[in-house]
Amino acid sequence: MEAYNICQSCGMPINDPSLHGTETEGGWSCQYCHYCYQNGQFTQPTMTLEEMQYNVRCRMEDKHLPETLINTAVENLHCLNRWLQRPVHGFLQHPPRINPSYGLTI
Ligand SMILES: [Zn+2]
Repeated sequence: MEAYNICQSCGMPINDPSLHGTETEGGWSCQYCHYCYQNGQFTQPTMTLEEMQYNVRCRMEDKHLPETLINTAVENLHCLNRWLQRPVHGFLQHPPRINPSYGLTI
């Protein structure tokens, strides 16, 4: 199983293995960051897409990123696996290799 290079919940770049979330089985999540996902579950399981869009916008505004970049990131959130409700099974036994061809570029 390859690792996504952006979190499939919040869209944050996962450019370091330590940023990957963790599974109950003890592996690394192949698709979520550790802010969104720990021990096999979402840290905020009831969060809606709208709330996530708001969170991402605030986080990016805090970093003073360009408005166009923020809009693109927020508009693309619904394409991520969490919000598509696309089931993805499997986890990583080893620290993930980052595959740059996966995921959206923001
Ligand atoms: Zn995340």
